[in-house]
Amino acid sequence: MSRPLVALASLGGTITMTGSGTGGVSPSLTAADLVSAVPGLADAADLRATTLATSPGASLGTADMRRCLAWAAESVRAGAAGVVVVQGTDTIEETAYFLDLHWDHDEPLVVTGAMRTPQAAGPDGPANLYAAVITAAEPASRGLGALVVMNDTVHAARRVRKCHTSAPQAFVSPGFGVLGHVVEGRVRYGNAVARHPVLPLPQEGPHPRVAMVETCFDDDGGLLAYAAAQHDGIVLAGFGVGHVPAALAGTVSAATARVPVVLASRTGAGSTARETYGFAGSERDLIARGAIPAGFLDARKSRILLGSLLALGVPHERILAEFGARGAWAQGPTVADSGGSESV
Ligand code: ASP
Repeated sequence: MSRPLVALASLGGTITMTGSGTGGVSPSLTAADLVSAVPGLADAADLRATTLATSPGASLGTADMRRCLAWAAESVRAGAAGVVVVQGTDTIEETAYFLDLHWDHDEPLVVTGAMRTPQAAGPDGPANLYAAVITAAEPASRGLGALVVMNDTVHAARRVRKCHTSAPQAFVSPGFGVLGHVVEGRVRYGNAVARHPVLPLPQEGPHPRVAMVETCFDDDGGLLAYAAAQHDGIVLAGFGVGHVPAALAGTVSAATARVPVVLASRTGAGSTARETYGFAGSERDLIARGAIPAGFLDARKSRILLGSLLALGVPHERILAEFGARGAWAQGPTVADSGGSESV
């Protein structure tokens, strides 16, 4: 039986990191090195491995993601059933969402990495790579956009979060759960996720500067005011369902007068509210002052979405509609409305 063609690109990350002595580990292995270290992988798929970068996740940027999208599109044009991107786990929750927003193909784009280095006792990289390739080759993964596969679980890019510094089970999908599990070399999907319409990839050039500001106990608003003066947009991670101290409400008004301000939650799970609390600095107050509620999108994902929307140059009402649809607090058309469902 012929094996599905799967293209795999490495950007670096712990999964590629080696070292000796006291200098610590750093990215060194190539995509071909990674593939050759996984037992059974050659039986699962016909692999084409490419090294796009050898960077830690912390140093990846929008330019790397653009290269990644171009490589992935070229791979599916050349016949790949799916593609796998290997990278540092530190930024997967952001990069995977960027890729998901702009991945205009039915073939699955699967992102994976490792929490332990190849030299650790019990590295998780080979198992993650195997599960990612299985997921990319799986026909049931088609049409799901970008997926994150770690620890034999499959996550939707728009939900996944890294919530542990070192555990192999560091990735979770708060609220709605994982999409599926890899079991005995097959993916078993149990949760559906309808894709949101794909956004066009903005023209190359400097990406908008979007600040992510988390409020905190006794916040004086200095950082928010600075961010509003220096950036093209702000994501404000508020308390609970989207609150800041009353003393910051005026700073939020000043910020929304300058740039789009998206109001997310710093809690890490759940949706912002829109019509519950009425005190100064509450979500109702901040929305009345022009803040855009993020709904179920967390602050990191909100920052990615706002950056792409600003790069596309869409008007404010469109930004509001996109957050309403993608954050699931409203129904409405989106920038690239292709008839997709508005489900969470
Ligand atoms: N700890 C990270 C990783 O899991 C390091 C990185 O993101 O490069 O890959």
